[in-house]
Amino acid sequence: MFVGHFGVGLAAKALAPRVSLGSLFLAAQLIDLLWPTLLLLGIERVRIAPGITAVTPLDFEHYPITHSLLGAALWALALSVLYVFLTRYRRGALVVFFLVVSHWVLDLIVHRPDLPLYPGSAKFGLGLWNSVPWTLLVEFAILAMGAALYIRCTKAVDRTGVWGFWSLIVFLLVIQLGNIFGPPPPSVAAIAWVGQAQWVLVLWGYWIDRHREPS
Ligand SMILES: [Zn+2]
Repeated sequence: MFVGHFGVGLAAKALAPRVSLGSLFLAAQLIDLLWPTLLLLGIERVRIAPGITAVTPLDFEHYPITHSLLGAALWALALSVLYVFLTRYRRGALVVFFLVVSHWVLDLIVHRPDLPLYPGSAKFGLGLWNSVPWTLLVEFAILAMGAALYIRCTKAVDRTGVWGFWSLIVFLLVIQLGNIFGPPPPSVAAIAWVGQAQWVLVLWGYWIDRHREPS
């Protein structure tokens, strides 16, 4: 899943309005933000296997540190403890925790059975990626719901707050369509480096949030 994670991050603004959108994105996408580094270090593994699903050519062979349920829960705990330490905003920390775990649950819907509960366990996945139309529907529906909630509970304080937000939504949609309809990545290294570029989306979230306020 890709834009769905950002949709859930946007939606969470309604639950904890004082958490910046950047922090919400960081939480919702944390395990995918860490994954490229573990790939580059050779600790987790992915294989390019065109046709393995209708949507993605990636075969997630081994990623128990980022994408086991236990791993996700421990990352959730780490980020929420750090968050409450830095901000003293307990409600925000709770939302951060559940956002990190939400990533695994959303991935469970779309992935092949490649998600372990804990390192070495049986693997699970409901396989929505076998259908392009269903994947697009679910991804876009979650993003639309999140964008609508975020717009309802914040208002722009200047023009940047409007255009920064809408340009992000368009950018996310373009990336999602490119992921599905574009050519497979040329190499695992390319996957990892493009994956690192996602940190820009977290910064984009902080930037937008500085130009909007709770309404
Ligand atoms: Zn993921």
